[in-house]
Amino acid sequence: MSVTSARVTRLRERLQRDGLDALLVSGPENRRYVSGFTGTAGSVLVTAADRQWFITDFRYVDQAKAQCQGFEIVNQGSSYTDALANLLRSAGVKRLGFEQDILTYGEVERLRVLERDADVELVPTSGMVEALRQVKDEEEIRCIERAAEIADAAFKHMLEWLRPGVTEAEVALELETTMRRLGASGAAFTTIIASGVRSSLPHGVASDKVIERGDLVTLDFGAVYEGYCSDLTRTVVVGPPSERQLEIYQIVLEAERAALAAARPGMTGKALDAVARDLIASRGYGEAFGHSLGHGIGLAIHEDPRVSRLGEEVLQPGMVVTIEPGIYLSGWGGVRIEDDIVLTEQGARILTHSPKDELIQVG
Ligand code: ZN
Ligand code: ZN
Repeated sequence: MSVTSARVTRLRERLQRDGLDALLVSGPENRRYVSGFTGTAGSVLVTAADRQWFITDFRYVDQAKAQCQGFEIVNQGSSYTDALANLLRSAGVKRLGFEQDILTYGEVERLRVLERDADVELVPTSGMVEALRQVKDEEEIRCIERAAEIADAAFKHMLEWLRPGVTEAEVALELETTMRRLGASGAAFTTIIASGVRSSLPHGVASDKVIERGDLVTLDFGAVYEGYCSDLTRTVVVGPPSERQLEIYQIVLEAERAALAAARPGMTGKALDAVARDLIASRGYGEAFGHSLGHGIGLAIHEDPRVSRLGEEVLQPGMVVTIEPGIYLSGWGGVRIEDDIVLTEQGARILTHSPKDELIQVG
């Protein structure tokens, strides 16, 4: 049985449980997960019974035939909704789920024609395929691990390369091209390079600011390998660090280590978040850690489960999440340290291995 057919089987079980006759899968990562299709246009239609189609236009028909094992490939021709209506009628679908968090209002409006043409009821669904994606199989973990190795190797290069006088944008460019040279298909998200006072911006995308001696520099970046993302953050200092920089770094490091050591299946994302948050709060910086401890990674850079104050989901073996506490002091700067872990029966295995035991000096 192919990987995707196992996924279709699990999706079918979910459809039957939710009383849907079929689901229209439109989100790019969901579509890829269910069908194996890596292109940029097309949708998957899976019935609760035994049919599965990949619907696309002429540009992608050959690619879909090559990639979507076990799927009937449908060329939508001049009308996507006419093609859909035919399939729905042929399978006797009455209740059709669509992905409400992915389709635009306009796209849902266009599907309304199916109510008349195929006599279906359109049922909004949320997170059906995303729920399946949370627990990774061995092949997925292997891809994330490779993406993590690429990020680690790129960071190693940056430690040699980074020096005062270069701009954040130049650092981001060097980092991204290095990851590409190492085999990444691209960056997993817009690279964050935040230096000096800008390091207090948790999402400070690389700017034209010149990096100077004395700056903390936060590098938050990731590689994509075979569609799967890694996500790594290290904070370094340019030249000798100040006492305060060392102190803040040590607190974040301690919080990160505590969370890495505590992570195990059976606990909620919320409980894991609290391990790091409580430690940072006990040192007087609770207000300065204003974001979640982590998030799932996979085909998307942010996916379930949440590792945050809102993370009610129980962690399970095979989930891959980030651990990324930080302290951000407006007008001064900030520190974040982030690693990727896979939950195992025993606890957690760390996938990223860049050095962090002390605040690294560059330049
Ligand atoms: Zn990150
Ligand atoms: Zn992250």
